Amino acid sequence: MKILITGGAGFIGSNLADYLVSKGYSVRVVDDLSFGSVDNLKDLIQEKNFEFIKGDLRDPEIANNSVKGIDIVYHLAANPEVRISSQSPSSLYELNVYLTYNILEAMRKNNVKVLAFASSSTVYGEAKKIPTPEDYGPLEPISVYGGAKLASEALISSYSHTFKLNSVSFRLANVIGKRSNHGVIHDFIEKLKKDKTRLEILGDGTQSKSYIHVSDVIEGMHYLLNKNLEKNIIYDVYNIGSDDQVTVMDIAKIIIEKMGLNPKIYLTGGVDGGRGWIGDVKYMLLSIEKAKSIGWRPKLNSYEAVKRAVDEALNS
Ligand code: NAD
Repeated sequence: MKILITGGAGFIGSNLADYLVSKGYSVRVVDDLSFGSVDNLKDLIQEKNFEFIKGDLRDPEIANNSVKGIDIVYHLAANPEVRISSQSPSSLYELNVYLTYNILEAMRKNNVKVLAFASSSTVYGEAKKIPTPEDYGPLEPISVYGGAKLASEALISSYSHTFKLNSVSFRLANVIGKRSNHGVIHDFIEKLKKDKTRLEILGDGTQSKSYIHVSDVIEGMHYLLNKNLEKNIIYDVYNIGSDDQVTVMDIAKIIIEKMGLNPKIYLTGGVDGGRGWIGDVKYMLLSIEKAKSIGWRPKLNSYEAVKRAVDEALNS
């Protein structure tokens, strides 16, 4: 069984590559290293079941070559920054929609039939139902990033039905853990390393979201995809998150305590009623009942995941 991970030199992708190689799968990673790093793959580069190709998947020829001989594609390559939605919509279209189309076309031409897609909780926008289940609607993303993920989901669903693929979109909560290179934990630690005396928090600090450790995400995607393949389901969607939420202020306090610091905290106040940035969803909690009913549940809740991720970031 040969698996392609697009964006496999990034945070989630490299952890997924470690996991799949350790399970005995043959893994190919394709990444242009725009956000990721080969350093994330250093434990795998010598493995005989592992192959790394540096390439930009916006190029149809590279997408085509990447999927040749592949049984399952985990499509993770993207611009992962929700925050750039208001500054760089074109980048989000190119990397989060057009790139997905390229992968689907390459799969169609090469008869590759299985796809797992890293979508996001941001497709729900400001859901009125919390915890938010997969069948919540209408879906009304409030960031271009969320809109691009939803557009990708739609393309994947339509290709799956038209060309008989088996695909799953995984709507991920905030993923944290080893090798994370963006997001709130990374930002706070970097700011405090630069200046121990002050910490600026974007927004009003009350933003409350669900966090999930990368190890739980990877096991969840692998387990649920395989369960769906057993049932030959053409297209499906799963939320992957934890059952609780943590506020941004709580995360700041955990980091400050673990770093043994006493900085003065500055709240920027944010935009639009305390959001960190335009398009920031202030309250997010996914219902994970559907995944639980299939037999998956996260090992860590949000608090435990945050504490572990902070330790991992400080000891890396
Ligand atoms: P990441 O930036 O670490 O990984 C994305 C990888 O894609 C990077 O290594 C980057 O170099 C690569 N890439 C970007 N453009 C490319 C291109 N044109 N060709 C080839 N490779 C390219 O981000 P991540 O946090 O590991 O996210 C992985 C996926 O999960 C993304 O699709 C992201 O949107 C999604 N996701 C992440 C989170 C989270 O909290 N981290 C939450 C929901 C969804």
